[in-house]
Amino acid sequence: MGTYEEQSMSSSIEKAKGVKDILPPDEPYWELVEEAAKKTARDFDFFRISTPIFEKTDLFLRGVGKRTDLVAKEMYSFKTKGDDALTLRPEGTAPVMRAYIENGMKSLAQPVKLFYIEPFFRHERPQHLRQRQFYQVGFETLGFGSSVIDAELIQAATHILRRIGLEGFEFQVNTLGDASCRPSYMKKLQEYLKDNKKSLCLDCQESMVRRPFNVFECQEEKCARIARMAPKMIDELCEPCHSHFRELLEMLDEIEVPYTLNPFIVRGLDYYTRTVFEIWLSVEGEPSGMRALGGGGRYDGLAAELGGGEIPGSGFALGVERLIRVIKNQGLVPPQHKEREKSIFLAQLGFAARKRSLKLFSELMREGIHASAAFSRESLSSQLRIADKLGVEYALILGEKELFDKSIILRNMKTGNQEILEMRNLIAELKNRLSPFSTKLFRPI
Ligand code: AMP
Repeated sequence: MGTYEEQSMSSSIEKAKGVKDILPPDEPYWELVEEAAKKTARDFDFFRISTPIFEKTDLFLRGVGKRTDLVAKEMYSFKTKGDDALTLRPEGTAPVMRAYIENGMKSLAQPVKLFYIEPFFRHERPQHLRQRQFYQVGFETLGFGSSVIDAELIQAATHILRRIGLEGFEFQVNTLGDASCRPSYMKKLQEYLKDNKKSLCLDCQESMVRRPFNVFECQEEKCARIARMAPKMIDELCEPCHSHFRELLEMLDEIEVPYTLNPFIVRGLDYYTRTVFEIWLSVEGEPSGMRALGGGGRYDGLAAELGGGEIPGSGFALGVERLIRVIKNQGLVPPQHKEREKSIFLAQLGFAARKRSLKLFSELMREGIHASAAFSRESLSSQLRIADKLGVEYALILGEKELFDKSIILRNMKTGNQEILEMRNLIAELKNRLSPFSTKLFRPI
């Protein structure tokens, strides 16, 4: 038996595997991403939606597809005491489509444009940049099937990334056809893979009938060789899918979005039709040289799978943790939140002054003067040390004597000069000295 401390250390509870605490030093980065997403949503007329963190498991079985890796291997599914089969949402599109159908959004002006910033859950092998709880910014446009919607979504994603200040990203674009041209193409691909079965890895051999697209995502060099020579969807499109794709590319050229045609982008989920894309970033030192920041595409068949009839849709999601890593790697400094930038510190000495300071704190705030304070500290020197660390311009010092005289001391933190102000003139004096008062306004992105 060890000491009490040793015992309590060894039995202390740690977080579950594959999840992370988001700590205060990272908060400005989260705010930067959220602000960029919200501002872009306002510019493009998207409205925020929040769906529940868990859904009926059937939503994902039917929407995303039973045989996809996401559903077959990565879902956090559980039975409740009432015997309901529920799942922590692994992605946002199926829940948003469910909400659209269930809340009668079909009767609104179409398309309905929604966005979310939410956590998602996937039981993946935890590794660098793969977590079991992670956040996505998602934009979805429902109720309209035209290619201009796909272009508008790609434009919105570009705006978010540019607003953050990111550089070096590129869209990898492909088309997966639709229910009229994909089935015959899939047969062709299966035949080709069967003919080359011996040259495939065991995983691809095993999935070549069930999920022939897997070969396009396989990391094995021998499978990549077979994939390069495989028939491609883009050569087998029906006329409407062909026009849709051609129009999209013309629009991307027009708006000067950086993109590459990539026939290997297949996205792992069953609901995709026609347009699919990923957003890649050149990152030196990454194994593949590129890293996915997000992805998306069109899902015209999803609503029918959920029993909602014909409702076309298209959307994308960006991984927030990945964005933040890139923001840091590119040395971007998030603007500090306005309220975090303070020019005044409020110090107090003695119980009566502390009481009065609490009230003064609110009075200052009402006047738009955001002060810092350390009410829990008693000694003046320790309070001034904190003020010093915060880098404020002035400290206000309120002691018993000042309280009695209805005055307050104003200390210039740079020079150490102190003067006595009358309490009734305080607000006017501060506004005067700190003018222009809003020197540290939040910098818009
Ligand atoms: P997906 O739709 O699965 O391609 O996900 C879209 C984006 O979300 C990805 O490009 C990643 O940036 C992010 N993402 C997906 N899964 C995870 C995960 N397990 N951990 C962290 N980020 C993820």
